[in-house]
Amino acid sequence: MKIQSIRFGMLNVPLKTPFKTAMRTVKEIEDVVVIVETDTGHTGYGSAPATAVITGDTHGSIIEAISKVMSPVLIGRDIADLNNLINTVQNSIVRNFSAKAAIEIAIYDLFGQLYNAPLYQLLGGGDNVISTDITISVDYIDKMVEDTLNAIEQGFETLKIKVGKDPALDIERIKAIYAAVNERALIRLDANQGWTPKQTVSVLQTLEDSGVQLELVEQPVRGDDIEGMKYVTERIHTPVMADESSFGPKEAIELIRTRAADIINIKLMKTGGISNAVKIADIAGIYGVNCMIGCMLESSIGVAAAAHIAVAKASVITKVDLDTPALGKYDPVTSGVQFNNSEIKITDLPGLGISKIDNLTMLDI
Ligand code: MG
Repeated sequence: MKIQSIRFGMLNVPLKTPFKTAMRTVKEIEDVVVIVETDTGHTGYGSAPATAVITGDTHGSIIEAISKVMSPVLIGRDIADLNNLINTVQNSIVRNFSAKAAIEIAIYDLFGQLYNAPLYQLLGGGDNVISTDITISVDYIDKMVEDTLNAIEQGFETLKIKVGKDPALDIERIKAIYAAVNERALIRLDANQGWTPKQTVSVLQTLEDSGVQLELVEQPVRGDDIEGMKYVTERIHTPVMADESSFGPKEAIELIRTRAADIINIKLMKTGGISNAVKIADIAGIYGVNCMIGCMLESSIGVAAAAHIAVAKASVITKVDLDTPALGKYDPVTSGVQFNNSEIKITDLPGLGISKIDNLTMLDI
């Protein structure tokens, strides 16, 4: 099975409700889809969204990195030679993590098809059903409480509450949601770099003192402020999770060894794909640190790949935040991963099992 051509498409999915964090507001999912065709007629799919403020990747940079830099050194290569292919991808260009992720996802999809097994089985196997949280966007308190109650009604048992706007108002938001939830779901907070270290300690200590129990607080301070993360982690009881502070395996090692975070959030678009995501899970496992697997606001192609990793590395990846397919008005992707509100189930289809992508606009590159 040799790589014959690499083509691109764009996939747009409108959201049910705008996705609002301390960093940005997004109304639709818009992904670059990478289509890797082989001489055996098998096709592998990968995808990546633009997240300029998080990874620095844009649609243009993703397409350019793959078409101009990676394609020339990948075409003609054998899918069975996975490790060498992955080395080629990772060493072809510095950074450009989302481009690397998109092409790796497609290559692993083909690797699964080559051996006629779902990706999670090739990564070591596991229980094929996992459950995800759902994101509650930052908004007026009444709207957040309404969204929270809807999520509980839909069967979600873990809620990820977006905060990080104004510390005093955030405390009111969280207290109102906590009271409305009334112990029917677990609450995790994601401040998306919105607070300073001192604000974070103050907010979390106020909440802890008032009896609000949170599962964790995610990336309260700026991603590049590792000292700030450590300052927070040392001063609050609630576990601190690194998201924008954690990219590849080296950053994960640093965060764990300096105790700057208690939990690592793995996202394929930050790690540069599946190979490094697996490495981070294995590193965390060595240190007895748990991980979350998350995703960007992205199509269910990349989210399907993340689900396979979550299943295969479930002993370390104990938290799953793969709710974007549930946030879209519809899911144009038919794959071997079935997203049904909080439940994610992987079938026996080989690779990622992608059989259909509706509304894909092919690009002439
Ligand atoms: Mg986050």
